[in-house]
Amino acid sequence: MLDFERLARRPRKKDSTMPNPKRRHSQKRTSTRRAHDSLKAHSLAECPNCHEKKMPHRACVKCGYYKGREVVDVGQAS
Ligand SMILES: [Zn+2]
Repeated sequence: MLDFERLARRPRKKDSTMPNPKRRHSQKRTSTRRAHDSLKAHSLAECPNCHEKKMPHRACVKCGYYKGREVVDVGQAS
């Protein structure tokens, strides 16, 4: 009998448990994964209309301008 035939005929273990990891991860593996988890400050661009710092490719929060025209009505009252 060939090896793979014997393997195919071997009775399967009836097991209702979920698959579980065989070994616990090392501390190095965990810390290497978490090396990229830190948050970074968002890059900011200057608004060409009011020269306030704004997020790039977004309308300005201060003046409501985007691509040289007003797209959001920003109330003057504060
Ligand atoms: Zn602006």
